[in-house]
Order: sequence, then C-alpha cells, then structure tokens
Amino acid sequence: MHELPVTKGIFKTAMAEAEKQNANKIKTITLKMGDNCDYVAEIIQEYFSMLAEDTIAKDCKIVANYVHTTVICKDCGREFTRQEFKDVCPYCKSEHLKLNIFKDFYIETIEIE
Ligand SMILES: [Zn+2]
Repeated sequence: MHELPVTKGIFKTAMAEAEKQNANKIKTITLKMGDNCDYVAEIIQEYFSMLAEDTIAKDCKIVANYVHTTVICKDCGREFTRQEFKDVCPYCKSEHLKLNIFKDFYIETIEIE
C-alpha cells in the first residue's frame, strides 16, 4: 500500500494550488505515469477520495496519462513500443535492444474551478 504517501503528496499539492487560486473545487488531477512506475492509478484514486472527504477536492477525478516503455534497436536504430515477452526488433529481428523505460511519476495538471 505504498500509494498512500504519494497520494498524500498529490492531495497536499492540489489543495495548496487551489488555495493559491481561490478555487471552490478541485475537479481533475492528471498524473503522468510511466507504465513501469510502481503506482496504480485506481488505488491512488481510492486513497485520494478518502483523504479528500469533506474538502473541495471530494469529487476530484484522478486521471492517469501513461507513458509507455519504448525499445530502441541498437542495430537499425528504430524505436518502437515494447511488446511483452518479445524482445526482438520487429524491423530487423535483432536482439540487441535498449529499453527506454519511463519510471517517473508526477502531476501534469490540476483542474480547478
Ligand atoms: Zn532493428
């Protein structure tokens, strides 16, 4: 349940932003997440709803924008989306691949009213 601390962080950031702008409501928070990052958006949403009870963020929706891991072929230089269990270049069949993993996680936008 390691989503709880990050969710607290998201909640704090969103509330601070809303306060700065005198908002009445926090509508949507968009997160940018690598598809290899360790957090699950649905769980973040659950924790968020719990934390946001009785606040202006109580109806806020968490939207995850996933960034997919790509693979770069060391032989032909092409970049493509990784396919599970198929670590072979679809263009030249090379197995010399370099993973371009996006593990980050951050708040992209906060929509307030
Ligand atoms: Zn290739």
